[in-house]
Amino acid sequence: MRETVDLLLTGGTVVTMDARWTIVPDGAVAIQGRQIVAVGSAAALAERFAPRETIDCTGCAVIPGLINGHAHVPMSLLRGMVADQQLDVWLFGYMFPVESQFVDPEFCYVGTLLSCAEMLRGGTTTFVDMYYFEEEVARAADEAGIRAICGQTVMRLPTPDAPSFDVGLERARRFIEAWRDHERIVPTVAPHAPYTCTDRIYREAAALCRRFGVPLITHLSETAHEVETSIREREVTPIRYAKRVGAFDVPCIAAHCTHATEDDIRLLREAKVGAVPCPTSNLKLASGIAPYRRLIDSGVRTGLGTDGPASNDDQDMFTEIQLAALLPKGVSGDPTAVPAREALALATCWGAKAVHLDHLVGVLEPGKRADIAVVALGRLHTAPRYTYSPEAIYSYLVYSAHAADVRDVLVDGRLLVRNHALLTLDEGEIVRRSQAIAERINTFLAHRERDLLAKIIALGGVQQAEIFEIQVKARLGPGGEPLVERILSSPEVAITKTSVRTQYDTYFLFRNRERVRIREDHRTDPGARPEPKYTVTLMAEAVRGEYPHAIVLSRARYTALADHTGRFYREYFQPDQVVELEKRRKRWRIIYKDHDFALNLDTLVGGGADPGPYLEIKTRTWSSRDAAERAGLIGELLALAGLDEHAMVKQEYVDLA
Ligand SMILES: [Zn+2]
Repeated sequence: MRETVDLLLTGGTVVTMDARWTIVPDGAVAIQGRQIVAVGSAAALAERFAPRETIDCTGCAVIPGLINGHAHVPMSLLRGMVADQQLDVWLFGYMFPVESQFVDPEFCYVGTLLSCAEMLRGGTTTFVDMYYFEEEVARAADEAGIRAICGQTVMRLPTPDAPSFDVGLERARRFIEAWRDHERIVPTVAPHAPYTCTDRIYREAAALCRRFGVPLITHLSETAHEVETSIREREVTPIRYAKRVGAFDVPCIAAHCTHATEDDIRLLREAKVGAVPCPTSNLKLASGIAPYRRLIDSGVRTGLGTDGPASNDDQDMFTEIQLAALLPKGVSGDPTAVPAREALALATCWGAKAVHLDHLVGVLEPGKRADIAVVALGRLHTAPRYTYSPEAIYSYLVYSAHAADVRDVLVDGRLLVRNHALLTLDEGEIVRRSQAIAERINTFLAHRERDLLAKIIALGGVQQAEIFEIQVKARLGPGGEPLVERILSSPEVAITKTSVRTQYDTYFLFRNRERVRIREDHRTDPGARPEPKYTVTLMAEAVRGEYPHAIVLSRARYTALADHTGRFYREYFQPDQVVELEKRRKRWRIIYKDHDFALNLDTLVGGGADPGPYLEIKTRTWSSRDAAERAGLIGELLALAGLDEHAMVKQEYVDLA
């Protein structure tokens, strides 16, 4: 009497990825409910089981469903948006501004559907995510039928779904409580990375994980810069820091570990942390190449991930597996460094350990969940077939098969892909909804690329200064300071502040006559703040009004603290011309007839410009009537100095240079 089972996959080469690397040519897998009940030869299983449904897998490889150990799946909607930029330009110039504007529940839901469709069609049956509105990621993943660990991202900066980290942690708690009993979805919390989190965020996230028995997801040691900064500021590597703040007291999944040191690798092994390098992303963002061989040899639970589709740009685990086999060979000069079968293990049996799901998936053996991919071989790029060594199957799977070769996919015993077609998701509808969201982002970026103000505002922290700037500039002869002295010694003038500074200005000039100024301002007078101040200012084209003694400029002037490098701004703004200017400035803030003015005695250094000195008298206001009055007062101050029209200079310094 044969035993009834739901499904029999029969006739393929079964690559079990079990502890003995068992391969069954002309094998079969029997599935009952959610579980695998038997793996063996097709003949033996045909004798033993009476299946309700049989799928002929002749000419195919039957493998454990692939495990994508690190992803940000809603970001598939940002695929192709920006490429080939430095990480800071990519992140602060594009990703963060677009995310803050567009990431909402719908974005996360639709983006996850798109990713699930792509991943399932490519044989991925489990993914580990960290993003925002993770309940929407979980909802879409549940509809798709895929398996997922969904981490609600928390960081100290405001995020699209939480204005502060307390709110983020509270969101994570509610999310975990709502989804904790789901059979395929593991809800959890994901403190983003040591450089975006505080000790408290990590400790509280770990406490949540301990309370609900879920793993903690984070990014660790992705770039050399991150490791250097961590050592400088915290005196430890990001990995040691993570241990110190409790992240390793619970099962942890650490993305990247690209720059793990020997000491780090020991910590990862001892704490059973899953290390998940993302080969394509690490290459594309020039983060480096993870020490795959060292991680494996040291017994660290190692997996593989795609990372977000904005830095990959697909979620094709076949590519990641192939790179994990090729990269260590290339950097070590040893073609045996990571053999094909170990590269496949990183995305199956070992990957399951890395994401702490090895009790359920990663291996085809009785008792495990039926998460299976059937890969069609014998196509142009996978033909002909050598079978004298069973091991050759790893070579086909790793070096020549593609995601598109995946024919059938099961998760938890349920067929989700059959003959390359999705059974749970409507591919056309998902692409249509994704395109609708991309159109909105497209319009936003197209507008912003033309608009410098929008680009500055996208960086955050911008303040607008007064609209009207009233100024006069005069070139003084040698020994100009006594002229300034005449103004300052007037009984009607009260000095409120003085300073001495050196200013390094970089002007970005644009064909539309807009200008962006990056200023590095060093106070050099005794007792002044030692740190230079960096600002970025947009100076839109001025409307000039010439008054008898002064020029009134009405213009929008926006300033923000400049907390990126000069290189960042150059790449971000892409100016048509760059002019650099250095000047020494002695400045007096004065009150004259109830109005405040700044007197600058400036000397230009280097460059082709006339060094001066120059006297600038400046003031600002929001009111046009007030502007006219102040222009008159500037005339009086000039008269005090005994300066006349001949000394006037109408150009700005950048135009003199
Ligand atoms: Zn990531």
